[in-house]
Amino acid sequence: MYFDTIDLRSRGASAPSQPRASQGGFVGLRNAEVCVVGAGYAGLSTALHLAQAGYDTVVLEAHKVGAGASGRNGGQVMPGFAADPHALQDQLGVRKATALWGLSVEAVAKTRALAGTTCDIDPKVAIVAADQTGSAEIARAVAVRRDVFGDRQIALHDADSLGRAVGVATQQGGAIDARAFALDPRKYVRTLVQLARDAGAAIHEDSPALRLARANGVWTVETATGCVRAAHVVLAANVDNAGLASDTDRLAAPVRTFMLETSPSPLVGQALADVAAGYDTTASLHYYRRTADGRLQFGGGGWPGRIAPPLAGLYLRREMARVFPQLAHLPVAREWSGLVDVTTDGLPRFARADGLIRLLGFCGHGIALATLAGQLVADAIDDQSDRLALFTRLDQTRNWPTAAGRTAQLAIQSFAPSMARFLKLASA
Ligand SMILES: Cc1cc2nc3c(=O)[nH]c(=O)nc-3n(C[C@H](O)[C@H](O)[C@H](O)COP(=O)(O)OP(=O)(O)OC[C@H]3O[C@@H](n4cnc5c(N)ncnc54)[C@H](O)[C@@H]3O)c2cc1C
Repeated sequence: MYFDTIDLRSRGASAPSQPRASQGGFVGLRNAEVCVVGAGYAGLSTALHLAQAGYDTVVLEAHKVGAGASGRNGGQVMPGFAADPHALQDQLGVRKATALWGLSVEAVAKTRALAGTTCDIDPKVAIVAADQTGSAEIARAVAVRRDVFGDRQIALHDADSLGRAVGVATQQGGAIDARAFALDPRKYVRTLVQLARDAGAAIHEDSPALRLARANGVWTVETATGCVRAAHVVLAANVDNAGLASDTDRLAAPVRTFMLETSPSPLVGQALADVAAGYDTTASLHYYRRTADGRLQFGGGGWPGRIAPPLAGLYLRREMARVFPQLAHLPVAREWSGLVDVTTDGLPRFARADGLIRLLGFCGHGIALATLAGQLVADAIDDQSDRLALFTRLDQTRNWPTAAGRTAQLAIQSFAPSMARFLKLASA
């Protein structure tokens, strides 16, 4: 089963059953109105909303549905972007930043509605300050969110009060986001697949798009065994898109992040007593959630590039033991990793030209934002609204430099240094 064989190592825990999406690998010549490349949340949500609007839509997925980040993530659904609210305000000004924040709130509500009752929705997410600096950052972010964006569904907590909700070893207070929630990411993939198919979209697994070409106003998307011809193409293939768009890494750098899942234990429910999930302000960016069957999923670390460094699993287990010492003895059932598409400013990179729409740069916030993107794309193609332009008109020039420059910049800025220190010590 695909989800049991993802990177690093599996220790045989049963994974949710694989969504049976495929109408077979794509073979032959097919005319469609829209061809969507990639069956993660962005591609599936696009296909769902287009099919609901009556568009003949074909999805080509290189591997299995949810094979990318959508089947591997931490399941936290929260408003906002990778850029903090105050950074958003500084960068875009109050009006634009408020409009984007409003869209992100809409994205959370839309995700919740689509996930329905089949995705283990679990409310409330904690943002945990690791130190005084983190505490001040959270307070500033909460103030902008409440006072500038008018979003009051978040409350600050001191260390005592936060400690009753989430039992992490060391913390300096933080906030609890009542609008945010957690879900089972793979069940959400399966739900979107079902909804898109019911609406009439055709979804083909094991069908990598190899080439995109446009002639006389029509796009041709070639696979090894056929081609789809369509007026519109939506490229929703994230950063691992096998060279379909050569500038991908300039727009969004691939950063590998790591996750593990423990065996079930009542201690997990005690550690996350009053929140479904949480994340912290450390450079390693720890994130965690409790699953419906009483396991802890714990993620963190980040490594610039596509290749996982050796000992990443060891690093992550050590980090988990530091954050949740009371859970350190729990056997680890599964470990895996995935790629996050990181932009320089934490904002997505959407583009639209000549019938080609690109969706990239969700920066670890893609459950809700990629879901909403599907609606925005369908509305744009159907001429219902041009809210997609709120994103396509963002400054698209703040991109990454060359590959070497990008890696260096990420290594300095991001969570890589703490991993690097660990790897150096571990191999000494
Ligand atoms: C470990 C981890 C934890 C995360 N935690 C969270 C979280 O808690 N909350 C949150 O909001 N976000 C989180 N994210 C980010 C979130 O998962 C992504 O933003 C989101 O899934 C992106 O969806 P997508 O559809 O753009 O990309 P993907 O899900 O990566 O889908 C792209 C698809 O395109 C396919 N593809 C690639 N090339 C081709 C081709 N040539 N032809 C056909 N198909 C192709 C791939 O196989 C893949 O299935 C996390 C990500 C990771 C990796």
